[in-house]
Amino acid sequence: MVAVRYYCPRCETVVAVERDAYLDDKSVTPYPLTGWTYVAPDEEYEDDAVDGVRFVCGESDGCAWEPPGGAENGDGDDAGETDALGCGEPFYLNFVAYEDGEEVEAAGERESEYVELAEGRVPRGPSGPRGPGGPTNR
Ligand SMILES: [Zn+2]
Repeated sequence: MVAVRYYCPRCETVVAVERDAYLDDKSVTPYPLTGWTYVAPDEEYEDDAVDGVRFVCGESDGCAWEPPGGAENGDGDDAGETDALGCGEPFYLNFVAYEDGEEVEAAGERESEYVELAEGRVPRGPSGPRGPGGPTNR
């Protein structure tokens, strides 16, 4: 698990969540993407059926909220003020979804069809042969 931070797109309050490192985030949006499935940060979101996380700014459980600009601000002693954070509006973290190494677009059309792309199998590398030159006839 790694801790990652996102900004609320409305008020820039920071949310910190822990999740598996292999998940990639695509974007944070103030509105859900059509057809995507969201869960609260304290629910199980490392699941194939889940496309993102729905946060309620400053209120969601299962994550940590920090004021814009950093958690520590001035001379401490204000540990109990976390409830005052955030704008209370929902925002959405959208994961990048991969199928067969191809990024799935956020169009809401994630059907169970299996498309095999031959291009996806070509290994990346320097183009052109670069092996030993063979015997030189000189
Ligand atoms: Zn906010």
